[in-house]
Amino acid sequence: MDIGRTLPPDVTADLLDELVASKARFDALLGVAADGIAHIDATGSVARWNVAAEAISGIAAERALGSRLDAIVPEGWTSIRSVPLDGLPHLVRWSFGPAGRAPVRAQVVAIVRASGIDGWLVSFAPQQRFDEIEQLKNELIGSISHELKTPLATIKAYVETLRDNSLTPEMAREYLDVMGDQADRLARAIDDLLLVSRVEAGQLLKRRETVPLDDVLDAALRSIAFDESAHPLHRETAGIMISGDPDLLCDALAQVLENAAKFSPSGHQIDVRGESREGRCVVSIADRGIGIADEHLPYIFDRFYRVDRALASASDGSGLGLFIASALARAHGGTIDVRSEPGAGSTFTLSLPVRA
Ligand code: ADP
Repeated sequence: MDIGRTLPPDVTADLLDELVASKARFDALLGVAADGIAHIDATGSVARWNVAAEAISGIAAERALGSRLDAIVPEGWTSIRSVPLDGLPHLVRWSFGPAGRAPVRAQVVAIVRASGIDGWLVSFAPQQRFDEIEQLKNELIGSISHELKTPLATIKAYVETLRDNSLTPEMAREYLDVMGDQADRLARAIDDLLLVSRVEAGQLLKRRETVPLDDVLDAALRSIAFDESAHPLHRETAGIMISGDPDLLCDALAQVLENAAKFSPSGHQIDVRGESREGRCVVSIADRGIGIADEHLPYIFDRFYRVDRALASASDGSGLGLFIASALARAHGGTIDVRSEPGAGSTFTLSLPVRA
């Protein structure tokens, strides 16, 4: 269509401006996309190759543009021509580099116009990224099943025993206590998993208040049913204020306190100290337990990381506690650090900004 002849000149100019602007927006979008994006024209030559495509394939745009697709992706041309012309994305596997050592997962859409095929748009990302997601998903499912099945199995076994009427009332009460504890453990595991999904979705902080550290600490101790007869607690926290979402701060402290108790022998003291330092609230939780060897320290805040899997699987826990605590610290603009010595104990330090 000859726009100039059918529309008034000012409308034509506006339309051209709009076209130039939308092309600029489109180019900017291609530039920032995390996935590699390629446009292959109807003859099989590369017409566009964005920055991510360069990074993922290791092939510079200068080399890619104008090249035949087959020259840079073995079987590339065959793969896209086998894609149905339905305008929908179809999965194909491409690989780059010597001996196809950099496999990618590509989605191809055929661009079809009334006049015929007008090329293909391909977006691609390293296969490794999908493998990692898959592995994470499997780990998550394994860990969730373990976390949920263990207390459930205990509850079920106790229900069966309670059905047996030969139990004395004292024994029955004892059994009910165990079942109650296991139900609490189940509820905590579910809360942790929900918290992890909020962490992943980036929806953490809903409110921010400045409250006494003592209040948050008390709530944290209550939430994990901290047993002071097993671990005497020494606290220097009076008068210190902390800022953030009190429920989430409570969760963060609870995760660290629970570990302090779990990984130190009964009778060993746990120290909690709060300090106001340069507009920050610094809380340290020190135990005198088994400690953590240097080689593990960089990983303990990772999802599912547990130092000694044999020992860890005997104790409850999913390897999510410190991941949650560090995500909560970051969501509050703070940090969490650890110092530890095997056999002597560990000190976790939370440092959070305090808003007046
Ligand atoms: P878990 O559910 O296993 O406790 P965490 O993420 O809370 O998971 O902790 C990860 C691992 O870090 C634990 O399995 C343990 O090996 C180690 N760890 C955490 N806190 C302590 C501590 N206070 N003392 C010794 N080891 C600890």
